[in-house]
Amino acid sequence: MHIAVIGGGVVGVTTAWELNRRGHQVTVLERHGQAGNETSKANAAQRSYGVVYPWADSAMVMRAIPWLLKQDGPLKMSLPPSLDTLRFMFSTLRYAWSPGLYGLNKRAMLRLGMHSRERFMELEQQVDLEFDGNHRGLLHLASTPEALENYRQTQKLLNELGIASRLLTPEQVREAEPGMTGNGPLYGALSYDTDGTGDCHLFSRALAKACEDNGVNFRYNTETTHLMADDQRVTRIAIRDAAGSTQVLDVDAVVVCAGCWSNSLTQPLNLKLPIYPVKGYSLTVPLKDPNRAPVSTVHDDNFKVVATRLGDRLRATGFVEMADFNRDIPEARLATIRKSVESRFPGCADLMAAETWTGFRPMTPDGPAIIGRGPRDNLFLNTGHGTFGWTLSAGSADVIAQLIDGEPTAICLDPFRPGRFRE
Ligand SMILES: Cc1cc2nc3c(=O)[nH]c(=O)nc-3n(C[C@H](O)[C@H](O)[C@H](O)COP(=O)(O)OP(=O)(O)OC[C@H]3O[C@@H](n4cnc5c(N)ncnc54)[C@H](O)[C@@H]3O)c2cc1C
Repeated sequence: MHIAVIGGGVVGVTTAWELNRRGHQVTVLERHGQAGNETSKANAAQRSYGVVYPWADSAMVMRAIPWLLKQDGPLKMSLPPSLDTLRFMFSTLRYAWSPGLYGLNKRAMLRLGMHSRERFMELEQQVDLEFDGNHRGLLHLASTPEALENYRQTQKLLNELGIASRLLTPEQVREAEPGMTGNGPLYGALSYDTDGTGDCHLFSRALAKACEDNGVNFRYNTETTHLMADDQRVTRIAIRDAAGSTQVLDVDAVVVCAGCWSNSLTQPLNLKLPIYPVKGYSLTVPLKDPNRAPVSTVHDDNFKVVATRLGDRLRATGFVEMADFNRDIPEARLATIRKSVESRFPGCADLMAAETWTGFRPMTPDGPAIIGRGPRDNLFLNTGHGTFGWTLSAGSADVIAQLIDGEPTAICLDPFRPGRFRE
């Protein structure tokens, strides 16, 4: 089959890899000049298979309200909020208070996380990619006794699903992360021993190159303007290149992997995807003193900032901001991220010299990504991965390829089905 994958972020590229391996002819349509240039560019770099969860959680909502009011709190919202922001927030609240839904969705996401870990392991055997990746685990620090107690509760579910984790004392945390000499409060940590890291942008570009070597056609600087369909099938795709020339492509099937921009492609076919762009920020900087830097990934629950070691660089990431597609990077946000890193890993890098970035998490209001068949027989979706698209990319690419080939899927896709959203 000739399959078009729309979007060359990490999700589109891994999808193209899986489809090509199965013998399909694949064309990736990406409006930027290279792979992974939007949300997949400078994210927190965690492959956090054991830490995937829906934000539509009543307990989290109650914790989040005070964050909005705190000056350097992790949650921000543009004022006045836009209609899209309000719609997303109210929808999230409704899902958060739907009885039983959070537990079902969290288990489904963790199952996809575990499958994704397996698929990453296989993929890294199949192809040698340079992306500063490893599986040295991930630490969630507890800066209060309550946080430690929450981790104890979290462990019950992890144990139930067979996901390796350990509660660490402050001494054990410092043993695992000897560079953590700062004076930030510390009561212990939850260690996810089998989780990993890696530069998602380097990975996307390297895998795209490997796909091209195997015959995948990448059409960069090419925007998909719309899908042309009859009642049953998408028959053709309308595209436009950077010079403005338009063309129509014949396809046998389509996979939409267009992240925050997916809805504009599906809505004309009567499938509304309520994906909202939740903004975050990152700093990336060469290490000044590697001995003072994180060994792997450390999540500082005090500021909700993640510090990740990527080879000889540090990546620090934070904030959940509802500001639609505003790409400004205010100094106050960067200052908070720097403050968090200095309170844990003082002197590891010259943070003022860091490269800065902002990107948009393609969030669904209930939490799980959108993976499944769309409103036409040959239209598929692998999008809306929110905070966890890097982590879940290898697993979701595998299950969408199974679905396209008519095979049973490795995990149940019901919680991810495209048509589940209520108006
Ligand atoms: C601050 C921050 C930190 C994060 N940290 C982590 C983390 O630690 N771990 C993790 O797992 N995830 C993390 N994420 C989330 C993760 O980055 C995303 O879920 C993931 O990158 C989404 O990948 P994607 O391929 O779906 O989307 P994108 O990377 O946005 O790719 C979509 C692509 O589609 C293209 N496109 C869209 N519309 C069209 C069109 N009409 N025609 C052609 N091309 C089109 C876009 O140009 C884009 O390249 C983080 C996100 C942010 C913002």
